Amino acid sequence: MTVPTIESEVRSYCRNWPVVFNQGRGSHMFDRDGRAYLDFFAGASALNYGHNHPLLKRALLAYLEQDGVTHSLDMFTAAKEDFLNEFAARVLEPRQLDYKVQFPGPTGTNSVEAALKLARKVTGRQTIVAFTGAFHGMSLGSLAVTGNAAKRAGAGVPLGHTWSLPYDGFSGGQVSGLTLLDSMLADTSSGMDLPAAVIVETVQGEGGVNPASSTWLADLAELCSRREILLIIDDIQMGCGRTGPFFSFEVAGIIPDIVCLSKSISGYGLPMSLTLFRTGLDVWQPGEHNGTFRGNNPAFVTAAAALREFWADNALEKQTETRGLLFEESLGELADRHAVYVAALRGRGLVWGLAFREPRMARRVADAAFARGLLVETSGSCDEVVKLLPPLTTTDEELAEGLGILRDSVASAVGG
Ligand code: PLP
Repeated sequence: MTVPTIESEVRSYCRNWPVVFNQGRGSHMFDRDGRAYLDFFAGASALNYGHNHPLLKRALLAYLEQDGVTHSLDMFTAAKEDFLNEFAARVLEPRQLDYKVQFPGPTGTNSVEAALKLARKVTGRQTIVAFTGAFHGMSLGSLAVTGNAAKRAGAGVPLGHTWSLPYDGFSGGQVSGLTLLDSMLADTSSGMDLPAAVIVETVQGEGGVNPASSTWLADLAELCSRREILLIIDDIQMGCGRTGPFFSFEVAGIIPDIVCLSKSISGYGLPMSLTLFRTGLDVWQPGEHNGTFRGNNPAFVTAAAALREFWADNALEKQTETRGLLFEESLGELADRHAVYVAALRGRGLVWGLAFREPRMARRVADAAFARGLLVETSGSCDEVVKLLPPLTTTDEELAEGLGILRDSVASAVGG
C-alpha cells in the first residue's frame, strides 16, 4: 500500500490500521479494496449511532440541498434553534437539569478549556483538582489536568495550577483520593489552596476503561458541594448513551455544576462540543470566550435528528444496559479462560476494557483483531488495555461476531 509521505509524524491511528478507508456504514468501515471491518472503536465513541446512519444522513442531505447555512459563527440559525429546542426538550427538561448551553470550539478539548476557564472566573480561584489516569484533551489547559506523562511532556511549558489525586481504585484502592482531598482542605497548613473545581470522568476511557463507583462519585459530589468547589464532569467520551443513560453521571444520582460534552453529540461524527453549566454560573461577558467554529450547522442538524431518533424514550438506554450485561458475561468467560494473561475486565454499558498483565499483549490482540477484520484500540497508561467501544446501534449478530473475532484474536496473541 502506498501512503502519501506529507503527513506529519504525529499521526497515530493510521499506524495501527495501515489501510486506506473509503466508506463507513452502520457498524462497518470498508477499505478501498472493499474489505469490511467491524468497527468496535466507533471514532473513539464519536459514532455511537454508527457510520452514516440513514436518518441522520437524510436530514443532513436535505439541509444541504436547500442551501442551509453551513457556517455561522454563533449567529442565530434555524439549525441551532432546532437543536437547542430538542436538547432542552429531550435531554435537559426530562432530567430537570437547569443548565445553560455554551458552544465552545468544536472539539472536546475546547469544551474542557471553557469549563476550566469558567470555573476559575466564577470562583476567583486558580487550582483545578484532577485524577490519576485522567484524559481531558491536548490543549494546554486540558493537558494540565491530564495524567499521561508522555502527553504532558508534549506541552513544552510548565503545566500548573492543578493537583492530581488518586482516582477511584488507584493503586488497588489503597489510597483514597477523596479522604486525602478532604483532609488536606481541612488542614490550613496542608499547603493546598481551596480549588476552583474538580474535573473527573465517570469512566476513564483513555486511562484504561476505569469506572468510578456510583458511591465514589456521590461522595465526590458531596465533598465538592460541602466545600463549595465546582464539580466538572467530563462526559465527552462516556456521554450520549455510551454507558446507558444519556449522561453517564445519572447512575450516581449527582448533578454536576459543569458538564463537558462532545464526540457523539452531533450523532454523525461531525465536530461539535457543548459546555453545560448551572444557570447561576453564567458569568461570561458577551464574546469573552469566542471562536470561529462554534456554529457548525450541519452538526446541529444531525444532532437534532439524533435526539429525535434515539432519545425520545429510554429504549436505547435499556438496550445498551442489556447488551452491557451480555458483554460482561462473554468477556468475563474470555478473561477467566486466559487469566494468566488477563489481569482485569472493566466496563459499563457498551464500553469495556480487557487489561493485560503484559502491555505488549494488548497491542498483539488489537493487531490480530485487525487481521481478522475487527477494529479495536488500546488504552491505559502503558497501552495495556484492549478497549471495546462498538456503536450502540450494533446488531446482536454483529456484537456476537465481534466477540467471536476477539476470542480468536486473544487466543492467537497468547499463542494458544
Ligand atoms: N475528554 C475526554 C474524556 C476524552 O476522551 C477526550 C478525547 O478522547 C477529550 C476530552 C478530548 O477531546 P478531543 O480529542 O475532541 O479534543
